[in-house]
Amino acid sequence: MKTLCLICLLWLAFPLESIARQSALPTLQTAGLVDIAAIPGLNVFIDIRYATSRNFTGKKIYNADKCYLHQEAAQALQKAVKLAARQKEPFTFCLWDCYRPQSAHRKLWEAFPNPNYVAPPKKGSRHSRGMAVDLTPCDFNGTPLAMPTDFDSFSKRAHMDFEDLPPDILARREILKKIMTAAGFTYTRTEWWHFDKTGWKTKPLLDIAIPQE
Ligand SMILES: [Zn+2]
Repeated sequence: MKTLCLICLLWLAFPLESIARQSALPTLQTAGLVDIAAIPGLNVFIDIRYATSRNFTGKKIYNADKCYLHQEAAQALQKAVKLAARQKEPFTFCLWDCYRPQSAHRKLWEAFPNPNYVAPPKKGSRHSRGMAVDLTPCDFNGTPLAMPTDFDSFSKRAHMDFEDLPPDILARREILKKIMTAAGFTYTRTEWWHFDKTGWKTKPLLDIAIPQE
């Protein structure tokens, strides 16, 4: 009887301990973020530039080429994709950056501590809330369409109000702005590729690593 009770106690203690350990560790899913690649039928291309050396730091900042967004931003992105597909010249999006863990954001700040382009770590990035996305219009083979600049061009040419551009590029930037705004995002003055989902302030800053699988 004594032995039986001991076994019972062990059986009770271990699962409880493992549940407590699991619930103490937040995941991107429990924080309300979703993997964009896992959304059925969503026709976008994921090219997370900070998971490569093709970014302004010249270094790999992320360990995984994944786009996670808060579910509210993910729903808005789906709406934007539908609107883009309905244009006279239909297109989709190549996603350059999505959720960015705070520790990764700190690396960007160390590489370029300019508050006009990189949010100071104390304030935190809207990307770290899963509520911002960097993207560019792409054709349905994943080839980016002509836009004013490449990603992370810290120049006037990347500003939303820069007008000295070929008419087709100006028109495309305007269509992008209209689509993203209609889908529930706001745009930013200095980076034509960056959009914030409205309501971002209500979501917490996160420092959960992006899962590799
Ligand atoms: Zn951004």
